[in-house]
Amino acid sequence: MTTAAPLECKQEAGVFAPVINRNRCEGKEDCVRVCPYNVFEIATLSVEQRRALPFGSRIKAWAHRNRQAFAVRADDCHACGLCVAACPEHAITLHRVSAS
Ligand code: SF4
Repeated sequence: MTTAAPLECKQEAGVFAPVINRNRCEGKEDCVRVCPYNVFEIATLSVEQRRALPFGSRIKAWAHRNRQAFAVRADDCHACGLCVAACPEHAITLHRVSAS
């Protein structure tokens, strides 16, 4: 699910979680800044994560010091959609992870 920019949280925590497209993320931190639940951190891609990228994405990641966003507290996501709207690379989508 991809959302626009709703003004309030839509769900209880744990129903939706953000998924970051590793081919798009440039680690610009907009998601870190806007998330009201502190879901994201910026970290360095592991060697395995870099190897899993297609060649073009590996070069792009290298150009950004292999720094990308990680949803380290995805269980706290309330599906407000602020991160989806804020990401300049359109790298974040929300996915349902629970039926409740
Ligand atoms: S939708 Fe994005 S900004 Fe909103 S709570 Fe979830 S991770 Fe944070």
